[in-house]
Amino acid sequence: MMLSAPFSSLLSHKNADSLSVAAFEAHIHQLCQMMQTLLHAGKVTFWLLHPARSEVICLQDIPHPERIGLSIPIDAISALSDAFNHASVLEFPNAHLDARLRNTPIGHEPVDIIMARVVCDDDTQGMLVCRKEQDHDWPINSRALVNHFVALAEQALLMLQPDAIAWRHLLWQQRLHKLTYQLATKTGRLFFTELVEQLANEIGADAVWIGELLQVGHGAASVRIIAGCGATIALEHHRYPLQESSCRLLYLADDWIIQSMPDVPATMLIQPKWLIAVPLRHNQQRIIGHLSFTFADQHPDPNELVRALQPLLTRIEAELIRYQAESELRLSSVAFDTNKGCIITDPTLTIMRVNLAFTEITGISAEQAIGCELGKEIWSFSEQQGDALLKGQHWRGEMERRRLNGELYPQWETWTPVQDETNRFSHYVISIDDLTERVRSSQRIQALAYYDELTGLANRRRLLEQVNVLFEQAKAQDEVGALLFIDLDHFKNINDSLGHAAGDWVLQQVAERLKPFFTKNDELARLGGDEFVALLPGLSSNPPQAEMHATLLAEQVIEAVSAPYYYAGQVLHLGASIGMTLYPTRHQTPADLLKQADTAMYQAKADGRSTVRAFDATMQRKVDKRLRIHNQLRDALRNNELSLHYQPQHMVSTGDLIGAEALIRWQMPEGGMISPIEFIPIAEETDLIIDIGQWVMEEACHQYMHWYALDIKLPQLSVNVSAKQFHHSKFTERVYDVLDKTGMLPEALNLEITESVVLEGLEDTIQKMTELKSIGISFSIDDFGTGYSSLGYLTRLPVNELKIDRTFIKGIPNDVSNMAIAEAVLAMARHLGFNVTAEGVETRQQLQFLKQQSCHFYQGYLASKPLPADVMAIYASDHLRKK
Ligand code: C2E
Ligand code: MG
Ligand code: MG
Repeated sequence: MMLSAPFSSLLSHKNADSLSVAAFEAHIHQLCQMMQTLLHAGKVTFWLLHPARSEVICLQDIPHPERIGLSIPIDAISALSDAFNHASVLEFPNAHLDARLRNTPIGHEPVDIIMARVVCDDDTQGMLVCRKEQDHDWPINSRALVNHFVALAEQALLMLQPDAIAWRHLLWQQRLHKLTYQLATKTGRLFFTELVEQLANEIGADAVWIGELLQVGHGAASVRIIAGCGATIALEHHRYPLQESSCRLLYLADDWIIQSMPDVPATMLIQPKWLIAVPLRHNQQRIIGHLSFTFADQHPDPNELVRALQPLLTRIEAELIRYQAESELRLSSVAFDTNKGCIITDPTLTIMRVNLAFTEITGISAEQAIGCELGKEIWSFSEQQGDALLKGQHWRGEMERRRLNGELYPQWETWTPVQDETNRFSHYVISIDDLTERVRSSQRIQALAYYDELTGLANRRRLLEQVNVLFEQAKAQDEVGALLFIDLDHFKNINDSLGHAAGDWVLQQVAERLKPFFTKNDELARLGGDEFVALLPGLSSNPPQAEMHATLLAEQVIEAVSAPYYYAGQVLHLGASIGMTLYPTRHQTPADLLKQADTAMYQAKADGRSTVRAFDATMQRKVDKRLRIHNQLRDALRNNELSLHYQPQHMVSTGDLIGAEALIRWQMPEGGMISPIEFIPIAEETDLIIDIGQWVMEEACHQYMHWYALDIKLPQLSVNVSAKQFHHSKFTERVYDVLDKTGMLPEALNLEITESVVLEGLEDTIQKMTELKSIGISFSIDDFGTGYSSLGYLTRLPVNELKIDRTFIKGIPNDVSNMAIAEAVLAMARHLGFNVTAEGVETRQQLQFLKQQSCHFYQGYLASKPLPADVMAIYASDHLRKK
């Protein structure tokens, strides 16, 4: 027959040996293609009857290979005909199909089909179904052609020597073939998840999973599940040590394995009877993962299974390689493009990769790190961090970590979850920053902010913080502590006479001498200048005892500071005055401590320096009063509560009135009178003294000119000027202002300054005095003898007069030493060409004494108390007229 040649050639190269399943399939495929061409058939399908005879399976479908593997219940076919039982070839023009066949390759009705039965033996049957192409008729010899096909197919079936095994294989093959089609358009995670589900279905396994072998360096190899179904489904991304699973045998054997009562990781929650595992390879060589099947009781022949899986395995392997490459690619773009330390983990936090910077920071090599689990083998998590990671959230923060060499260091960590194409977490990228340097420099900044550069002691800021802390601590622990305020005596002299370098050196020496007295629980600080503070916590639980301890310590400190200093061939002497306060006491706040100790320190200074004073309630009252006065003094100026009294000054020899001193008075609204001895020092603490002094000068000059106009022409008017007022940059201008405003005669104006003015700046004093003297103003040194009394500066000052303080006059005629001082001052003044005014002359004897000593002028109660302006006017006109 003309057309039989191609058919027979199909089998001609084969001998009578058995055909492999694959070869058999190839034959059937070719036969079906032939049939399609020869019969002008639209479709050709070849079905095989399942040995159990419950279904038929599509072995070939041209041109719809995706339908291969499809099964149809047998009764759907038998309802159409009894072809399988009887006829060899049947033609069905306009056949009506069983409803269940409509969606099958046999297709839509009405159809023209030819069916032919292929019989090998009783058990093995196949069926050919050809469906006519629409515009063609069947060829005349169609029956013969179909018969020929049947003969060839029977021959092939015979050569397959089909048995149960081959059948099953064939069935799997078809089903897996179908699966390959189903998965053709899928990739990545979707591919794997669908694959394992379908496989479990088709093969009848309890659980199926695909595991990826994690690249091992150091430590045990492990397997990460890419996709799983059965009980493993919850365990995607789960990682298990290869050692725990029978799968390890696969890697040992380098081939598939079957294992009865296998070890599976406990976390998988299955206890299978059988495990079959098939390797997945990279380019048919090294194993990169495996496909595992577990079975509860019956298992398929692994040989068959593996053979059936073969075409699919190639696809799985390709997909796995692609998957790994893609995730690497995804990762590398996110992560490794950085010079920060970097770690990549899988979702179980098992390290997959680290970069060089990681190794540099931690000292842990890539080989050591890979395969380790973060949070277990390397590092641990804070609670907060652990929470964030559990929820798959981004986390960043500072952690303390340990390097391989054991060194602890601070580290900034950023944990970023990476998602795959289905938005599930596939990796973590952790970047790390070694903060050691940053912490070090912030410590340096801290040191600058909290410590005194010169002495290395704590500074004011640190002290104030510590005061707060230790104060609260003392309260909580019911213990008494003390704060010592240490102020050096005469430090200013050293600084002024020897310069700042010497001053700095001395301060450093003092700091060194102080340090040994204090423990590390104490806080020793330098507030600035020559002020030091020591905070002594927990001295005792009993206040008197605490005070005793602190006093003793303070006395030792004074002694140590007072020992001589040897600087550049010179011997320097210093002292220290210490004020002390105990804490905590009632109504006391931490802020009070420094003020109280400072007050006590001033008391120590007032009490003759180089001594300790403890703060007490009297001091507190004084402090309170000072504060009250200070506040009221502001208003006093505005409210005209201030006035001037004038004390007459006389010639000792003749008793002539030669002038008056203006003395301020404060009449408080409540009726009290406050002495300038009390409020002037308070005004001097602030700039208030500048305004008050200005007022006094203007008022006094105004008064003088008023008298002058009334023909009461006093030779001189004395006005007191305080140090702050004098050293104000605008002082001379203000004096000119007053002269302008009042018309005051400059030659009648005498300014009284104290030695403290000179001490606060000799050059400024000389310059201003010289300038004012040039326009006729004269100067007196007030309270001479009570202050620093260095004769050295006197010669340099353009001074006209000294006023001997009344404390020296008071002793006359009984106090020999005071008299001696008065005598000496007078002798020196004579020698230097100064006039001398004696203050506070109350008795005739005192005046007599002054006369003997050739003192020039005096003022005091003997002549008159300071007088209100109107009374002074009468006094003055009386005396001036007498003259
Ligand atoms: P001072 O400048 O040494 O004034 C003399 C003080 O001695 C006055 O005290 C005066 O009343 C007092 N006094 C005078 N004669 C006698 C006497 O015979 N016996 C006694 N026991 N005292 C006598 P006052 O007025 O209380 O002033 C005290 C100090 O206040 C003044 O001492 C002066 O340093 C300061 N002061 C007074 N007014 C002013 C002022 O307007 N400006 C400045 N900066 N200080 C002033
Ligand atoms: Mg005076
Ligand atoms: Mg005086």
